This record gives sequence, C-alpha cells and structure tokens, in this order.
Amino acid sequence: MSSQRPTPLKILFASSEAQPLIKTGGLADVAGSLPPALSHLGEEVRLVLPAYPTTLEQARELTPVSSLRIGAYPGEITIHQGTLEEGVTLYLVEIPGMFDRPGNPYVDGQGNNWPDNAQRFAAFCRVVANIALGQAGLKWLPEIVHCNDWQTGLVPALITGEGNRPASIFTIHNMAYQGVFDRITFDQLQLPPALWSMEGLEFHNNFSFLKGGLAFADWITTVSPTYAGEILTPAFGYGLDGLLEYRKSRLTGVLNGIDYRVWDPAGDPAIAQPYDAQTLKLKAINKQHLQQELGLPRQPEALLIGNIGRLVEQKGVDLILDILPGLMHKENLQVAILGSGDPELERRLTAMADAHPGKIAVHIGYDEALAHRIEAGCDCFLMPSRFEPCGLNQLYSLRYGTVPIVNRTGGLADTVVDATPRNLLEGTATGFVFDRPQPPALWDCLERVIEFWNRPAMWWEKLVLAGMRQDFSWDSSAQHYRDIYHRAIDNPAPSPVARKDD
Ligand code: ADP
Repeated sequence: MSSQRPTPLKILFASSEAQPLIKTGGLADVAGSLPPALSHLGEEVRLVLPAYPTTLEQARELTPVSSLRIGAYPGEITIHQGTLEEGVTLYLVEIPGMFDRPGNPYVDGQGNNWPDNAQRFAAFCRVVANIALGQAGLKWLPEIVHCNDWQTGLVPALITGEGNRPASIFTIHNMAYQGVFDRITFDQLQLPPALWSMEGLEFHNNFSFLKGGLAFADWITTVSPTYAGEILTPAFGYGLDGLLEYRKSRLTGVLNGIDYRVWDPAGDPAIAQPYDAQTLKLKAINKQHLQQELGLPRQPEALLIGNIGRLVEQKGVDLILDILPGLMHKENLQVAILGSGDPELERRLTAMADAHPGKIAVHIGYDEALAHRIEAGCDCFLMPSRFEPCGLNQLYSLRYGTVPIVNRTGGLADTVVDATPRNLLEGTATGFVFDRPQPPALWDCLERVIEFWNRPAMWWEKLVLAGMRQDFSWDSSAQHYRDIYHRAIDNPAPSPVARKDD
C-alpha cells in the first residue's frame, strides 16, 4: 500500500482564505487546520494564498522568494514565503492591483462581488498552476495540488495534459458559489481555447471556475458524506449534478475536523470561565457573562439559544425570523444572534431585537471572540440551514456543551444525533434534529427542546455530556485525505478535453 512510502508526500494546498490570516467562513477554518494536521502525519504541506493586506501584515517571517509573469496579467507577481505554523510553509501570492485592497476577499463594502473577481482568481489559479508544475522558481515540485472551492477551480484545468503534473484534488466546500462568468471574460483571460467546451469549463454559454475543479480533478471531495450524496441530485447540484454523477467513482465525502487547539472550552482565552466535561457546572458562569455582555437579564433558568453565521438564505435566518415572534410568548427564553451578510436580514434581525429588548440580542458584524463566548455561554445552538456542506458551529457547540438544534441535511445530519427516546436511552443522543427547513418543523422541534429543558436537569446534562464526548478532531479526516491523495496519484484521471492548446 502506498501509505508505506518512505518519504513524505509533497502537498500544495491552495485556498482563498485560511485561519488565522484571513477568514470569511468555514473554508478558512479548514485551510488553517487541515495542512497542520497533514504535517502532523508526517507529510510536507505548503499552503498558498492570495496576499491580501491583512495576510501580508500578519504572516510570520515573510521573504520574497520568486517573481514571475503570467498570461493575461501585465505586471510582475511576487511570491512571498513564510510559515503558517511549524511544519507548514506559507506562500503568499502578491499580484498588484488584484488583492491589495481592504475588506472582504470576495465582496466590496456594499456586499457586491468585486467586479474583477474573474481576473483576480484566474491570476491566482495561474500562479498556483505554475507552482504545481514547478515553474514558479521555487525549486519545489509537489506530488499533490489540493484545490478548494471555485476560486481555485481553474487549477486542475490549467495543468491537465501536462507531463509530470501533480495529482489534483478538488474539495467542494459549498456548491452554491460557482464563479460563473461570460465568454468575453473567458477570452480576456486568455485561457486555453480547448477549455471552452461542454467537457471543459463551458456552462450554459458561460464558463464556470467550479466546473473546472469538478471536470478536471483526479479526485473530488466534499466535506461530509451526506452532502456528497445530496449534490448528485438536482435540488443540491446547481446544474452540475449530472457531471458529478458521471464522476462519482472519484467523489468522496470527508467530514471536516475541527481544531481543538482553537475551540476548546478548557483552554479558550476568549471566554470568562474555562470548563470541561468534569467541571460542567462552571459553564453557567459563561452564561452569566454573556447575558451581561449582550444586555440580557442574568437569568440562569432562561433557556439561552445562540446562532452565529453568515446571514444568507442558506443558513435559514428567515426561518428564525419567522418563528421568533411566537417564541417571545414562551417564558424563560432568550436568543443571542451574531452575524453579518444580507442587509435586509440584518435589518429585520435588528428590528426584532429592538422590539424585544431583554429577550433577543442581535450583534451585526464579524466577531471571532464573541463567537467563542456565544458557544460557551448559550444552552443550545440553532442551525436551521437549508443545506449545509459540513457546518462547523454545530461541532464547536458539541464540544462546548451547547446542544445543537439542526435541520437534517449535509454535515448536520452526519454529526448530530436526535434526542429520540431510543437514542436517549442508548446514550447516543447529542442534540435535536428536524426534518424540513420550514417554520412548522422548526417550531415543533423548539417545542421539544423547551419541554426537554424543563425536565429535571440531569436529562439536559446527559445530552450535553454525550455531545462533549464526541471526537471531531482532524486525526481521522486527515488520514482519510492522505488515502485519497494516494488513490489520486495511483489513478490519474484522463483529461476530458482533447488537447490543451495555449
Ligand atoms: P460557512 O462556511 O458556510 O460560513 P461554517 O459553519 O462551515 O459555515 O463555518 C462558519 C465559520 O465562520 C465558523 O467558524 C463561524 O464561527 C464563523 N463565523 C461566521 N459568521 C461569523 C461572525 N459573524 N462572527 C464570528 N464568526 C463567524
């Protein structure tokens, strides 16, 4: 078996965000923690990111190591080398005019996509492809290039057909974001003409970065087994379910791990009072602090429900808004929400909090430390996502003894065990699961939660402790990725396009 190889695998891990340097969502958590987990297994991992201003400021020991030019981009590009953490080399790709702007990597201050996203991420993909082929002046040749989401989707397409190319892995963190652009953009980017075909990047008279990853990678992964099945259906496949069905012998769902160095209630510097399963009673102190911080009455008996995330339709924020007025009639119930995103959802949430002071607290914005305090201080965590490739907050919640309430979809279905009488009896229940992302189903589920909260405390505690015992560390997932890397090396996929004609 290939796991007996004497030398470490050389892996180039490409992402548009990674903790702790730049983060908008779960991709950053994965890109910041899977490479170290692979390094821990003895592999040689180098992470490549665009050089955003914050990444350049924060990265350790940066040195410019190479400069290069690529097609369709007029200027000179600099690759800086540093360290993500011990064992993981970091490359930051500085492309003047592309990534050196403040704010979010993908959208401007109004929440609109940067108008030159195609140019920005195509340029990044070209540099990653050059590194992958050993043509970026780095004197290093990876055996694997692991790409993530649409921003890196062109890489497998750009290296297809090249002799001595590394095996390519493409991980789908969310099918909903595809990077679709028009024919004029395709021509401006000077992409190889052969890529404009149904077997290549073409997608309903446009072209899709995501499709590049799905059509050309040697192996495709997504971040939970259930989502791997869901994306084969029209409801979740966004028009690419046919292609995925065709490639499904090379599609694997690998559940994300979480970084217990960052998300551990026993050693979390952001929270008021550290605790673990043995000292669970101390969790109540975090609840008091959170209530105070958010302007909620300090009531230990109130059921405090938390929610954190991007305020978008996917996350079911509108479902929460639908049921909140009814919930306000319940006694001893408080809600704490942290998020940013769709301005209309932000406005409606803020209005709801204004209408129910002392019961609903809403914090609009991105606040990593407050996210930790909500995980530590709440009794339960609500995630009514319409779809959820993996989801991380339910995993953080389990570790923090904060009972997750989730829709049965994607990674939520794979990680939370419903508190049915049978599961409770067997000690496997870890949360509450409902079956349709609609207000009545969510409402019925919350009625169950409230009934359970009002039982003698030992019931709740049993559920909490079963959740805290779960192990979602990266160990087994990183090993799973390593196996996939070897399978991809041993079974290169034939190129779907006849010829690559730059
Ligand atoms: P997604 O990647 O779809 O946004 P995930 O659940 O996979 O969802 O990951 C979201 C990550 O981003 C979690 O670590 C979550 O805590 C964090 N996050 C999202 N919104 C906020 C926010 N407003 N403040 C702090 N952290 C946030």
